[in-house]
Amino acid sequence: MAVYKTNALVLRRIPLGEKDKIVTLFTREYGKLNAVAKGARRTTSRLAGATEPLMLLRALLAEGMNLDILTQCEIRESFSHLRSDFGLILRATYACELLDKLTVERDPSPEAFDLLLSTLYVLQRAVEPDAALHAFELQFLAQIGYEPRLDACARCGKDLADGEGAGFSASRGGLLCGPCADATDDTLNLSPAAARMMIRLLNEEDAKALARIEMTPTEREEIARVLRAHLRFRLERDVKSTEFLDAHRLGAMNLTPDAGT
Ligand SMILES: [Zn+2]
Repeated sequence: MAVYKTNALVLRRIPLGEKDKIVTLFTREYGKLNAVAKGARRTTSRLAGATEPLMLLRALLAEGMNLDILTQCEIRESFSHLRSDFGLILRATYACELLDKLTVERDPSPEAFDLLLSTLYVLQRAVEPDAALHAFELQFLAQIGYEPRLDACARCGKDLADGEGAGFSASRGGLLCGPCADATDDTLNLSPAAARMMIRLLNEEDAKALARIEMTPTEREEIARVLRAHLRFRLERDVKSTEFLDAHRLGAMNLTPDAGT
């Protein structure tokens, strides 16, 4: 049986029978894959804690008939600070879910792996966690060719320098000029300042700079709404964890933490 080693981030896990789990791993070298973690539901198992979501592992896998087997692993990073803050867990879980939804199995994407990992590190020390999260959304969408158009009107193509648009349309996929904003049904408010912030978040690759970004309440609100609409349109459905994240952002959180399901 062939075995292989890889760096893997645990995206989610589901129980398999009484004792085992199926874990969805996002690996740098092999992309997303599901593997069986035998005995991992037993609290005494060495795999129990390591196979929880948001764990970064050095994993040893063995090829199986259907699913590969996670035979051994070492925790490389447990993101303990992130885990201690419910708002950060929600954001990290949302990032994992988005990536999970928009990737197929066994399609390696080292850029996406590096981006997700870097986002988890940035979230741990970000002044504005939503800036880190929106940077992840925008940069990940750019990697897979789904990023919103922010440099020109998404309807007529007119150049819009520095985010100087008059709104945003999810169905058109980006910023709109004045006449096109008036002529489009689903135009959402996006002030030039918020559009400029989106451009900055899309392009900022330096983790330290991202962690220091601050947003005004208007920018925070407009960007969240615009990105939600853009993603909903592109995905044709909502990402499940956004509901929890929205509730949390509104300070109306009244749910039991469960980052894993
Ligand atoms: Zn236009």
